[in-house]
Amino acid sequence: MSSRNRVAVIGAGLAGCEAAWQLSRLGIGVDLYDMKPQKMTPAHHSPDLCELVCSNSLKSMRLENACGLLKEEMRRLGSLTMEAAYQNRVAAGDALAVDREGFARYITEKIKSRGNIKTICKEVEKIPEMPVIIATGPLTSDGLSSAIAELVGEERLYFYDAAAPIIEAGSIDRSKTFRASRYGQGADYINCPMCEEEYKRFWEELSMAETAPVHGFEDALVFEGCMPIENLAKRGYLTMAYGPLKPKGIFEPKTGKEPFAVVQLRQDDAAGTLYNMVGFQTRLKFPEQKRVFSMIPGLEKAEFARYGVMHRNTYINSPKVLAEDFSLRRNSSIYFAGQITGVEGYVESAASGMMAGLFLGCRMLKRPPPKFTPDTAMGALARYISAEAKRGFQPMNINYGIMEPIPRRFRNKEDKYRLYAERSLEQINMIKNDSGF
Ligand SMILES: Cc1cc2nc3c(=O)[nH]c(=O)nc-3n(C[C@H](O)[C@H](O)[C@H](O)COP(=O)(O)OP(=O)(O)OC[C@H]3O[C@@H](n4cnc5c(N)ncnc54)[C@H](O)[C@@H]3O)c2cc1C
Repeated sequence: MSSRNRVAVIGAGLAGCEAAWQLSRLGIGVDLYDMKPQKMTPAHHSPDLCELVCSNSLKSMRLENACGLLKEEMRRLGSLTMEAAYQNRVAAGDALAVDREGFARYITEKIKSRGNIKTICKEVEKIPEMPVIIATGPLTSDGLSSAIAELVGEERLYFYDAAAPIIEAGSIDRSKTFRASRYGQGADYINCPMCEEEYKRFWEELSMAETAPVHGFEDALVFEGCMPIENLAKRGYLTMAYGPLKPKGIFEPKTGKEPFAVVQLRQDDAAGTLYNMVGFQTRLKFPEQKRVFSMIPGLEKAEFARYGVMHRNTYINSPKVLAEDFSLRRNSSIYFAGQITGVEGYVESAASGMMAGLFLGCRMLKRPPPKFTPDTAMGALARYISAEAKRGFQPMNINYGIMEPIPRRFRNKEDKYRLYAERSLEQINMIKNDSGF
């Protein structure tokens, strides 16, 4: 791996295949490495490239949904992932669901028949000394993980992630909540108070709610400190009330008293558009999260920017080490893409691969790079992974909460998101016209 005119892309999943494709379209040769099928991660099973490891849905196509916008941006700019998805679409209402085998086969055939992409079946353990995009995903193999940890200066990169849901601030019913910190030390949190009756009903539903299937490797490293909320509920009626829902030192302004229990929401982004449910890491199925967590006073109409999830997740502290073009700040010939950068989801991973491929390709060809501002869903993701995080950096799905706000009032959410989408697609059309991507 020594050529200076080629790029090594490590990992031929969602991000790696898209990155390789974009480089190839720019006329740059690619060595695309994947350890499959010689060695499989615990979630990969198919010998084909670009495998969807779980759901076969690439989520909503509606532009009122930020993931719908992200897909449309990618489609307009010539994404291979989008081409394969539309070619292998199965009926799923307004969602873009695919025949997963057809999807992976389509991409594999396209990549393998592309003259300037060479696919190489190998587990990479050292970072090659040539322009490189590392796209080995949340289940990056151990050897390479250690090399990356050394490169970015972290001791370990993986977590058994039990993330709590994130809610759009605008969807919280503030007439039922109040701002306060424990023991009157500020007003940083939004508090959702519960009387005993409300707590009891919530506890009953939560204890019986359906959890998502667990992969064998996941349970081993779950720490007490990030125990899923439903596990706490199952331990006993009052366990949550003495744990994350404890009301100690939180006084309701109306009564001046502590409620029976309280759910706290913590600001999650610098703009204050997103709130994290404190202590609510969970592996409930997504519809169950919506159903049960909407029982919390103030969250009846909550919009979930991200549901809670639990699985092993390898990702770097991107805001500390990556620039907005996905290159390493300390070494501009090393790029990262995909879930390892802290974007979350199939489409988001492919989108980051697309950006990394275009940015690196343009740099090598000394062409001006495409300008994705945070008015676009792609640019918002690039900003999210590279801008200073308000608190510990956490992986994130695309959502309108991380895009540049439009500072005016809207009659309803549909109008608002439609305008976000129009603003974005105008910019994408300009990028397409200016650069010919
Ligand atoms: C169990 C699980 C379930 C998920 N379910 C969903 C879901 O339903 N919907 C959703 O939107 N997102 C889901 N995700 C999150 C995420 O969208 C996917 O993981 C997505 O595939 C990430 O894309 P990627 O390109 O970053 O990594 P991947 O698609 O995982 O691609 C990485 C590739 O790198 C290869 N690789 C790893 N290490 C090496 C190495 N050292 N050398 C060479 N090759 C290597 C792997 O074999 C793999 O092919 C899930 C994640 C996990 C772990």
